[in-house]
Amino acid sequence: MQSGENFENRILFLGTGTSSGIPVIGCRCAACTSSDPRDRRTRTSALLQTRKSGEAEWGHLLIDSGIDLRYQLLREGAPLVRHVVYTHAHVDHFFGLDELRAIQFVTRMPIHLYASEEVERALRTVYRHLFETGVQKGGGILEVEIHPLEDRFQAGPITLEALPIYHGKLPIHGFRFGNLAYLTDCSFIPDTTWPLLENVGVLVLDMLRKRPHPTHYNLDQALEVIERLKPKEAYFVHMTHDLVHADIEAELPEGVFLAYDGLVVDLPSFDPHQWSRTS
Ligand SMILES: [Zn+2]
Ligand SMILES: [Zn+2]
Ligand SMILES: [Zn+2]
Repeated sequence: MQSGENFENRILFLGTGTSSGIPVIGCRCAACTSSDPRDRRTRTSALLQTRKSGEAEWGHLLIDSGIDLRYQLLREGAPLVRHVVYTHAHVDHFFGLDELRAIQFVTRMPIHLYASEEVERALRTVYRHLFETGVQKGGGILEVEIHPLEDRFQAGPITLEALPIYHGKLPIHGFRFGNLAYLTDCSFIPDTTWPLLENVGVLVLDMLRKRPHPTHYNLDQALEVIERLKPKEAYFVHMTHDLVHADIEAELPEGVFLAYDGLVVDLPSFDPHQWSRTS
C-alpha cells in the first residue's frame, strides 16, 4: 500500500444472464419457473466499486450498459454511474446506454465511455442522436465522451488492464482490476493474454450452459480455464435457462460458484489508482 491508505474494492454483479435474460419470455422450463431468486438473471453486467475506508460513497465503473440497466441500477439503490467500459458491442451489452440520462439529470456531468474502435463505431451508429448534428434532438439528450481502450487505463475511479479475448471469431475485451479478471462472452483466450491473468484471485468467467456453443465457454471448457489459472474463487456469468442455480452449484468444485444478480464479492485492499495485479 504505497499511499498508506486503505481501500475497499468490490464487484457487484448487476446481471448474470445470457442475451435473452432468464426467465425467457414464454418458457415454462425448470429455471424459468423457479422460485429461487438466483434463477432470475438479467443481462450480464457488473459494477466495479471502490472507496477509501471510512468514506460513505462508492466510486463506480460500469462494465457494459445492458438492456436491463435501468432496472438493475434501481434495484441497487440508484448509484450515480458516470463511467462505462465496454467488452463488445452486442445488443445485450450496450443497448441500455440511454438509461444513464436520468443520472445526468442529477449530476449534470457527461458520461465517460471507454471503448475499442469497433465498439465506438457501433455506438456512433446505434446512438446517432448523441453524435450527429443533423439528427433532430429532443430534450435531455445524453452527453457522452468516448475514450479509447488502452492496454492499461484509468476509467474514472479505477485503473484497468484490457484483456484481449475471443468471442467466437470476434476479438473483444475482458478486464483486470487488481486481483479480479472479468471475462464475459468468451470462448478462447489467446496465448498473449494468459500471462495477464497470472495470480488472478477472483475470476469472473463466461459459462453459458453444459452443451457446447460456438461463441461461449460451456461448463467443461470453463472448468478447464479455472484448472489452469487456479484462482481462489471463480464466478460464472452469462448463463442460459439450461442451468438451475442450486442443481448446478452442487456439482461444482470447491471455490467455483454461479454468480447471481445482486451478488457482491469483496476484493483485497489496493489503491485503485495505482496499477497492480494484486493477488
Ligand atoms: Zn452477451
Ligand atoms: Zn426456460
Ligand atoms: Zn456477445
